[in-house]
Amino acid sequence: MNSLLPPDFLSDARQSAGLKAINRHHGLAEEAYEAIFAQLMALKIAPGSRITVDNLARELNVSQTPIREALGRLEGEGLVVKTHLIGYSAAPQIARRRFDELYDLRLQLEPEAAQRAARAMDAQRLAVLRDVAGVMSRRGGGDEHYRYSSFARFDAVFHDRILEFAGNGLIRETLAHQHTHFHIFRLMFHSRVTEEALDEHEALLQAFEAGDGKAAKRAMRDHIERSRDRLLPAFE
Ligand SMILES: [Zn+2]
Repeated sequence: MNSLLPPDFLSDARQSAGLKAINRHHGLAEEAYEAIFAQLMALKIAPGSRITVDNLARELNVSQTPIREALGRLEGEGLVVKTHLIGYSAAPQIARRRFDELYDLRLQLEPEAAQRAARAMDAQRLAVLRDVAGVMSRRGGGDEHYRYSSFARFDAVFHDRILEFAGNGLIRETLAHQHTHFHIFRLMFHSRVTEEALDEHEALLQAFEAGDGKAAKRAMRDHIERSRDRLLPAFE
């Protein structure tokens, strides 16, 4: 029966079957990644605790391959540590000193970057930032662990895009490399952390919309200082 079909069709069909298998694999690895990321961010997997590939595979109902791929990616993001002969564990919580250093770094770089971004702002860039901020403010249903981890991810994107628009690639890379948002958000799992940040982002967006560099600088400084104050109780 197949012989009645034109040869191109056959090879297309075969190709698309192959593609589906690949997409399915990527899909599973992506889903496993999102699920483990959410558990790590919401402290469902406690900092420092062992992570067993077998258990996760069973819990998420997938084979070990996507789990290992997801864990490798999380290792690159500093959320998972792999120890020779022992295996994977959740990265320990950042220490107070590291926390202070991260916020010091952000305060030295981001307010200035916000000022530059405001001066380089245009309608298209503003729309990008409004889109990202909009995703964060959508509450809706769904699992609260997922919502929290997705907020952390989009906050990272929001700040990264501002650094991109500020125009210094090295500053952007430096902050991206620290994965500051993942480590900071993982200190605490609390809705206050996300709700207050939304208003602060709005103040930033208004400064950008007005093209007001000084207001953007002030709004970014305020946002980072308040974010630090919200998370400080994690060390008490
Ligand atoms: Zn933010």
